[in-house]
Amino acid sequence: MRVLFVGTELSPFSKVGGLGDVMGSLPKALLQQGIDVRVVTPAWSGVMERLREGGYKVSTFPQKASASYAWQAADATVHRVDVDGAPVYFLESEYYAGEMYPWDLNSWTVRPFAIFAMQALDLKKVIGWAPDVYHCHDWTSSYLPCALAWHRKLRDQGQKSVLTMHNAAHQGMFYPGSFFDESGMDPSCFNAGGLEFYGQVSLLKGAIFTASALTTVSPRYAWEIQTYESTQALSGVLYSQRHKLSGILNGIDVDLWNPATDPLLPECYSASSLAGKATCRAELLKNTSFDPAYSGPIVVCVSRLVEQKGFDIVLPALKQVRALGAKFVFLGSGHRWIEDALRDVSASNSDSVCFFPGYSEPLAHLLYAGGDIYLMPSLFEPCGLSQMIAMRYGAVPVVREVGGLRDTVTDADVENGGNGFTFLTYDTQGMLWSLKRAIERFSNVKAWQKIRARGMAEDFSWDKSARLYGELYKKIL
Ligand code: ADP
Repeated sequence: MRVLFVGTELSPFSKVGGLGDVMGSLPKALLQQGIDVRVVTPAWSGVMERLREGGYKVSTFPQKASASYAWQAADATVHRVDVDGAPVYFLESEYYAGEMYPWDLNSWTVRPFAIFAMQALDLKKVIGWAPDVYHCHDWTSSYLPCALAWHRKLRDQGQKSVLTMHNAAHQGMFYPGSFFDESGMDPSCFNAGGLEFYGQVSLLKGAIFTASALTTVSPRYAWEIQTYESTQALSGVLYSQRHKLSGILNGIDVDLWNPATDPLLPECYSASSLAGKATCRAELLKNTSFDPAYSGPIVVCVSRLVEQKGFDIVLPALKQVRALGAKFVFLGSGHRWIEDALRDVSASNSDSVCFFPGYSEPLAHLLYAGGDIYLMPSLFEPCGLSQMIAMRYGAVPVVREVGGLRDTVTDADVENGGNGFTFLTYDTQGMLWSLKRAIERFSNVKAWQKIRARGMAEDFSWDKSARLYGELYKKIL
């Protein structure tokens, strides 16, 4: 079985969020299932340098992957790099030289994503290997299943496609403008049963109709996005296509995220030997302006700073931070208003709140390892990797019962005990109800050890999910 992963992020070369992690780790797990899986991704600006700096062996094909857009050829140089045993094809082209994701999507800024999909379809000619299944990810590669159905030159090739929705809130919507003139997409698909969504083009909607199978990254999220309450607009469309929709929980790369071998930690540790975690905690404290002798709970959060992650309910809670009996460390970048608010609250409470603005792998690892409690009160959460990483590193998660958070975290106060603390109501009081329980429980050393040990013992590897993807490919072929 030959499967080509088509996605616009790939950890560790071009990761923005969880999509990059999955693109980087799921192929490895599928290879172990005996599936011939390969990956195609754009060589965004900086990626070729990263490959060179990382000492990867790059081989470049003489032939280019072609596409055509707005009556012009749009070719890409194809570079092959083997990553963890899976061939990865990086497409280098002027279209990927700018910002990865445009703030404003329109018929002009959507071009790199349309061209990438067309080049991915052309790749088989360059590499002499044709996939049975194109496995596409999110709206940024949704053009591909749409093209197989509606593109004047590319349709009806009989190939199968799977669309995985890592976040159905991003739908690739824009007013059509010159899109149907320039893209080669047949304008007759611009209707309610096709690409059109209330006057705009929605690439995600088109792919929901045209992909052979749909998956989301947790079973609970697969259910939520079909409901009106999820407020993600496409619920009706997803409900109508539920016969081909399933939820397969993401795993994490357990080799990369392993506190027992993590080279980014000042000292490694495991569930049976936790001394190194204390060293990581001390190192984390050293990086803050907190009292280095502080022994109470440290609440950590590594996150994109966007509405989805629940900062509108976190920020009011921080106003009374001194009464909470914990210290908070945030790492993240994103919306200006959240960054500014975190900067303000850490400036006026520098003994209790620390904010590291920006994106940093080493700091992220240190926060997971040095933290006691991991805060993730998301408004919605397709799967969430951070809570799984946190548990593996012995930071007990406090999460909202939504999407993949609900599928991976169970409350410590239910019968037989769980691995974290959960709440349902999306408001500051709801979150504080769980956060305060976690903070209180921290002082009960034995009880805390049990909760932490349950989290550290969870199996978050890709094995089970890779098997489910394998079964899905078989089903559609
Ligand atoms: P999402 O994909 O919605 O951003 P996930 O929890 O699925 O959320 O995945 C987030 C991933 O990105 C995790 O691996 C997390 O550690 C990482 N991450 C998020 N923000 C940062 C940051 N500022 N610095 C380093 N890593 C980050």
